[in-house]
Amino acid sequence: MKVKFTFVPSRILPRMAAVNSCPGQVRLGVNMASSSRPSLPKNYQLICDIVEESGIGRHLTPSDIYAQAVKRRPGFGLTTVYRGLERLRDLGFVSELYLPGADAVTYEPTGPQHAHFRCSACGAIEDVAFALPSRTIRTLASQHGFEIESERVTFEGRCAACRTQKI
Ligand SMILES: [Zn+2]
Ligand SMILES: [Zn+2]
Repeated sequence: MKVKFTFVPSRILPRMAAVNSCPGQVRLGVNMASSSRPSLPKNYQLICDIVEESGIGRHLTPSDIYAQAVKRRPGFGLTTVYRGLERLRDLGFVSELYLPGADAVTYEPTGPQHAHFRCSACGAIEDVAFALPSRTIRTLASQHGFEIESERVTFEGRCAACRTQKI
């Protein structure tokens, strides 16, 4: 299993990202003051809801999101999907994920810091409950004179299904 460490700008994957739900949705126990959140254009709200409803652990491509958006609102534009995702990422409502070797960027609900596993045989992406200890990050930063703003850890190998199929 190969391990890749890639450092990405914090706007892509903020470390210790706050759990932000879409502004239109009220989550008990997270933040009841939904009226103080920025309101989104209706189209962006729909994109946000689609990513949010997919749940933690799912990673949707823009075309997955587009397919669902068109079902709910016929005539929805693909360009709107791309623009909306960019905006939602900047606002911290969705997390954007580029993985080495993956064919497409994917989006997931903003949640706790985690790592990813990508199957090199079938391309499946899975969440892995792992984050580098902050002491390791601080040590690396001081050893190299870096200022580390975020981390992205990706494991690669064969998923459980591909291991049994011996592709
Ligand atoms: Zn696989
Ligand atoms: Zn994930």
